[in-house]
Amino acid sequence: MRVYIKTFGCPSNIYEGEIIENILSEAGHQITIDGDFDAIVINMCSVKGPSVNSAVRLAKQNSDKIVVVSGCIMENEVDKFPDYCGFVHSYCSHLITNAIESVRKGKSVRFFDRPKNLNDRLVPCRASNLISVVPINTGCNGICSYCSVRIVKGKLVSYPKKLVLSRVRSAIDGGTKEVWITSQDVAAYGMDSRSSTKDESDCQDVANADDISINQGLGKNNLVDILSDIVEIPGNFFVRIGMMNLPNLKIIIKNDRNRLFAILNHPKVYKFLHLPLQSGSDHVLKDMNRGYKAHDLLSTINKFRKKIPCLTIATDMICGFPTESDADFESSLSIIEKMKPDVVNISRFWRRPGTVAYDMNQVFSHIIKERSKKMTELFKMISFQNNSEWLGWEGDVLVNEIGKNNSLIGRNISYKPIIIKNKDSDIKQGDLVKVKITQHSVYDLKGTIIEKLN
Ligand code: SF4
Repeated sequence: MRVYIKTFGCPSNIYEGEIIENILSEAGHQITIDGDFDAIVINMCSVKGPSVNSAVRLAKQNSDKIVVVSGCIMENEVDKFPDYCGFVHSYCSHLITNAIESVRKGKSVRFFDRPKNLNDRLVPCRASNLISVVPINTGCNGICSYCSVRIVKGKLVSYPKKLVLSRVRSAIDGGTKEVWITSQDVAAYGMDSRSSTKDESDCQDVANADDISINQGLGKNNLVDILSDIVEIPGNFFVRIGMMNLPNLKIIIKNDRNRLFAILNHPKVYKFLHLPLQSGSDHVLKDMNRGYKAHDLLSTINKFRKKIPCLTIATDMICGFPTESDADFESSLSIIEKMKPDVVNISRFWRRPGTVAYDMNQVFSHIIKERSKKMTELFKMISFQNNSEWLGWEGDVLVNEIGKNNSLIGRNISYKPIIIKNKDSDIKQGDLVKVKITQHSVYDLKGTIIEKLN
């Protein structure tokens, strides 16, 4: 059967898509990317309402095909989909062929039972991708009051180090030049025992993470351990470290900061730190159950900036969380102004079923829209200024994408996106080139090739 897999969402879900592709190919199905298919697997994201609506729309558009919905699907949202769909939670993707077969026979199926052992979900790389996604843990030990990820993925499970290293090795052997170390919170690697004992219903009175977490040391295998082993793997490749959450990062800083700083200064590791803030208001952060104060995060970022020159900072901001007042939003704007991040992933708050924030009094959507517009305008100004400081820079760039109009896109060691005019046609993806930055814009830099390095 010809199967089309449409993946939405984060790098972890890209990995889920790869798992589904492997299983279906092994079962003899043909994976297709053009419009001519018999079955479609919608590998969905449910972190926000709009992403759920996109999946429902796609399912409705394919009523004449076999439709199976997988990925980060919430069981309490299955009824939003047409009844001819089958449902396979990402943890049950080993049942994807059964689901397709059942739906083909007109039987709708729902596979949501979480397998006891999730460890074998991390498999070596099969495809020789230039960029390979390596999830190091799944689930989360956070209890953010707005978050559906934790409901979908459950408690934190860190994959055994040997499985992670074998996936990285197989990727490098297969020609990978860029490894994305990813999860909901990579700083939580090895902290499975620190899973919050509190469940959703009494999130409100969670003590400040400081007194919960800091006093607990690092697990035997933590993020710094696994990154130290990954950079020792022979080969020319770069590592991008995925999103971290401050409460777990602070445990690493307390117990192992020098090795962490050394890793981020390692020539194989992109100088890139993704640390979601979400709000600049401490009372909103408390209502979100984020477990830190806004200036906590700002001072942590400044600590990293001192130790890692040319560090690229990425953060996430939610606009319109239910308890966010105009003054709270002003606090968010002012802390972003102080932080001057290079990347801000701006989200409009969207209440998710099953979360504490779902039952809170919601902010009017026109106000949410207005606030996210203001945050975007501020970010554009900051990013344009930050990027202007790269003019004249010369250095190595890994070409990892083909751009428009015969251009190439690459990343330098600070993971800055650089558009390269490719007059010299023999440069291709995976090549390392020396570049001089000649122009800048809000979202990227432009440069010319000085020489080809490999
Ligand atoms: S840290 Fe919070 S927002 Fe992130 S996945 Fe965990 S519970 Fe969700």
